[in-house]
Amino acid sequence: MRDNLYSTAAKKSPVTGFGRGLLKGLLFGMLFLTAGFFLYIIGFNYVGWFCMIFGIILPFIAPLAGAANNIHGECPYCSNDINAIPKNNAIICRTCKNTIIVKDGRLWSI
Ligand SMILES: [Zn+2]
Repeated sequence: MRDNLYSTAAKKSPVTGFGRGLLKGLLFGMLFLTAGFFLYIIGFNYVGWFCMIFGIILPFIAPLAGAANNIHGECPYCSNDINAIPKNNAIICRTCKNTIIVKDGRLWSI
């Protein structure tokens, strides 16, 4: 029988978060730049500009957001390593695909 309130300690990992954010920011930034450029060429001037500006800003914002939000800990289901940025205070474990709730600095099973 599994304890419903089982949880493990969660730590912030700013360095990993920064690296991940930078990688994602650059990737999506390039996507937005390219998309914006094409939109501009085919006539959507303002939308194109908006996309391009967003693509330029994103690589600067994403690492900071990643550094502030990246969580490191142990999965409460399968005790595998968790290293991710929670979405709406939830993380999906990469190994067991279960949903983990991040609350009060801990990782909770549901
Ligand atoms: Zn797991």
